[in-house]
Amino acid sequence: MRIDDNGRKCTVCHTYLPWTSFNKNSNSRHGHDNRCRTCLKEYRQSNTYKDANKLRSQRDYADPSKKDQQKARMRAYRRSPAFITNYPNFRAKHRDYQRTYSKKWREEHPERSRKTARKRMKKWLSNPRNRLSSAMSASIRHYLSNGTKNRRHWETLMPYTLDALKSHLESLWEPGMSWSNHTVKGWHIDHIQPVASFTFTSPEDQGFKDCWSLSNLMPRWSTTGIAIRYGSTRIGNTNKGHRPLAAIPPLPHNNRISTLPSTKHSVFGSTKAYKSTS
Ligand SMILES: [Zn+2]
Repeated sequence: MRIDDNGRKCTVCHTYLPWTSFNKNSNSRHGHDNRCRTCLKEYRQSNTYKDANKLRSQRDYADPSKKDQQKARMRAYRRSPAFITNYPNFRAKHRDYQRTYSKKWREEHPERSRKTARKRMKKWLSNPRNRLSSAMSASIRHYLSNGTKNRRHWETLMPYTLDALKSHLESLWEPGMSWSNHTVKGWHIDHIQPVASFTFTSPEDQGFKDCWSLSNLMPRWSTTGIAIRYGSTRIGNTNKGHRPLAAIPPLPHNNRISTLPSTKHSVFGSTKAYKSTS
């Protein structure tokens, strides 16, 4: 077998070739493979190689530690630019399979599936932006006649966006209000003219549009007790039915309080909010 400083004889095709024709291999004595690149390519396309690879992969998959490794590698690969360019329709092609498979899994593991769903929802709602969107959606669905919302996103029914609503509410915040207390124990979105005073059955009605217009929405402490605790003289949201409407002076539109907690902007829409709770 001829091996020298310049090259070697390939163990497969038995021709003497320079080292540049061999792949580097730090495990080998001479720092290179013992078969030339042409022979290597042929071997890699052979069924022998494919079968061996398949066997090794199956064997590794049976080993729990290697299984996780393999899964992680595959997951990373599916997100890599190379994969996305090579298989642009991968997701679309496998969507049906994935849907059927996840459905089957959920039916087989009802407990775990419920637990995961709850966990996912909790994480999603820990973002104030999502909480605001969800509150709007639920409230609109609640007041509309059955089925007229028809699974449409609330933003498509309104002339304003989530961001516009967010800045509108922020501009009317009373001292102490922030996105961290937009909760049952904090403030709610309140209708200045009560919902009951409008007539509508579907989102297309004028009554609906007036009722949910930005000028009819304001932040209000959930209960009068909470309002008093924050030093407000206003009536809370749940005292709705009893409040003498005329007695509540309209809020000036630009009473935005500059001394609000500094978390006001950083919490909203940032990932910080749910990272800290998870
Ligand atoms: Zn060769």
